[in-house]
Amino acid sequence: MAAAAQNSPASEKGGHRLPRRPLGPVGTWIAAVVIAALVLNYWLASRSLSEAPRIRIPYSPLFLDQVRDGNVDSITSQGSFLQGTFRVEVRYPATGSDARTARRFSTLIPAFADTRALSNLLQQKQVVINAEPLDTGAAWWKTLLFGFGPTALLIGLLLLVMRRGRGNVLGSFGRSRARRYQASAGRVTFADVAGIDEAKAELTEIVDFLKNPDRYRRLGGRIPRGVLLSGPPGTGKTLLARAVAGEAGAPFFSMSASEFIEAIVGVGASRVRDLFSQAKSASPAIVFIDELDAIGRSRSAGVAHAGGGDEREQTLNQILTEMDGFDPSIGVIVLAATNRPDILDAALLRPGRFDRRVAVQPPDRIGRRRILEVHTRGVPLATNVDLDRIAGSTPGMVGADLANLVNEAALLAARRGRDEVSAADFNDSLEKVVLGAERKIVMGTRDRERTAYHEAGHAIVGMLSPNADPVRKVSIIPRGMALGVTLSSPEDDRFSYEELYLRTLIKVALGGRAAEELVFGHLTTGAESDLQQLTRIARHMVGSWGMSPAIGPVTVLSQDGQGPLLPGVAGGSERTQQLVDEEVRRIVDELYDEVMTLLRENRDKLDRLAQALLQQETLDQADAYAAAGIEPPGAATEPLVEVEATA
Ligand code: ADP
Ligand code: MG
Ligand code: ZN
Repeated sequence: MAAAAQNSPASEKGGHRLPRRPLGPVGTWIAAVVIAALVLNYWLASRSLSEAPRIRIPYSPLFLDQVRDGNVDSITSQGSFLQGTFRVEVRYPATGSDARTARRFSTLIPAFADTRALSNLLQQKQVVINAEPLDTGAAWWKTLLFGFGPTALLIGLLLLVMRRGRGNVLGSFGRSRARRYQASAGRVTFADVAGIDEAKAELTEIVDFLKNPDRYRRLGGRIPRGVLLSGPPGTGKTLLARAVAGEAGAPFFSMSASEFIEAIVGVGASRVRDLFSQAKSASPAIVFIDELDAIGRSRSAGVAHAGGGDEREQTLNQILTEMDGFDPSIGVIVLAATNRPDILDAALLRPGRFDRRVAVQPPDRIGRRRILEVHTRGVPLATNVDLDRIAGSTPGMVGADLANLVNEAALLAARRGRDEVSAADFNDSLEKVVLGAERKIVMGTRDRERTAYHEAGHAIVGMLSPNADPVRKVSIIPRGMALGVTLSSPEDDRFSYEELYLRTLIKVALGGRAAEELVFGHLTTGAESDLQQLTRIARHMVGSWGMSPAIGPVTVLSQDGQGPLLPGVAGGSERTQQLVDEEVRRIVDELYDEVMTLLRENRDKLDRLAQALLQQETLDQADAYAAAGIEPPGAATEPLVEVEATA
């Protein structure tokens, strides 16, 4: 697999990387543009600064004549210098190639001139005598400032930006945005993580590696380079990584994989380089890359994601290079997390890279209890709250769900004006979390009746099938998208499913529609989500779990993201696909007949339950079984989970 990484075309595309310095032809270009800008700037500035031209004229006879003719408007004088303006433009010299016409003039008063006669004359002709300083043309500093200032400012700014990018034209683009974790007030420790003990134990060992590297090296052990946390969303992978940061006492750089990717090819790779060089200089350190699948997707499965693939691939290659490149004795450990370990590139999983893989599983009942304990540490609980029972009624929930549940319960209690959170608050929030919030719509009588029979149909099939999960709750209050809800959940967590159980699930899902058909004779759109759900189960039974004799023990459904084609497109021959379809249909048809027979034979129970629903709207486990006249199964625990809703 290593060969695959090295020979892949992307690793040879070094030229795509961003140039570190804009030199070469690009540099010459920039210099030319700068000079042109300076020249243009100077020319424009001097043009706008220089005022109308001033002609130099002789004192006598021209100046004196003009005064006598009354053509001099105003003058300014300092010592023997004299400047002024004519009323009407004057041409001087009268002929010749250098003759100029102007209103403004200057002249020199000779030392022997009769100044008293002059001032008399000026007064007589009513010439304005100004007290302004002489006009000596634009000051040198003005010319300089306006001539080069703006351009210089611009170039200065440009240089500053380039400097910040360490000579990289794109500046901070290429820098990693990794956040260095600071141990502060909100420090997360292993005590905040519960219910995922195996993963915690693995990471405790990693922390120990970092704290006492010598203990392991003495026996010739090699500190792992990469640890990959994988598991469903919300199980606490990110939390675990933050706890490692809190415990290890080593610098911790964290970054989400998607942050590497920018629209410009090559930026991701340079960010990876930057991240690792930061980590190396701070070693022993931990680098955490969250949501690794954003860049670590298998390169062979890339057909469907052609856009942006180049950038992703280069970034991935850079990570591989960095992980190979550093000496294990440096003490940089790479932690990564993903929900989809199945789609990661095989090169990432090779020993020497992410050689430790830690599966973070959804918690079991005891684990859920511990997680609830962690999250209720700061919550005042009423004495009637039994965390054990809540843990028992939340199979399938992960840490994030439980944290959310506790929060919802606390909010609800606050809204109800209580000082502590009671069991009722937990129950109601659980219902809200699992079933969705109640919707305030008014159903007509016909719709209500139909919904009542539909839900009663699900419930009766569930109550009468020996393998089914107990029915926990039946309701015809609309919630979320559903008009009604029938809720069944197992007594304990289930880790694998028997064929008989799956067939029962399909039967329960069919129960709603079958009851409608039996009672009203015609069908409505209300069973769509039931049908989707049961079709999915049936297809998996046939195509993934080998439960159809016609297909046999082979998988013929493509796994998401693994096949060479788009996800969801089936593998196998067309004939096989046809066979899958036929088998699915056979199973569902068979079960539908069974359900119809069951409901027909128990029509009295169905009617009773539907009537009870119409009256009370919501029935919990005991009431529902009593209304139907069916013996409830074993010890009834509280609700919930595994929603079976009707659209
Ligand atoms: P993910 O596995 O998707 O990265 P997170 O670590 O982001 O999940 O979990 C989200 C939140 O759920 C956490 O911040 C924490 O409050 C809660 N949580 C998840 N798992 C656990 C756990 N095992 N123990 C305690 N809290 C958890
Ligand atoms: Mg996460
Ligand atoms: Zn339904």
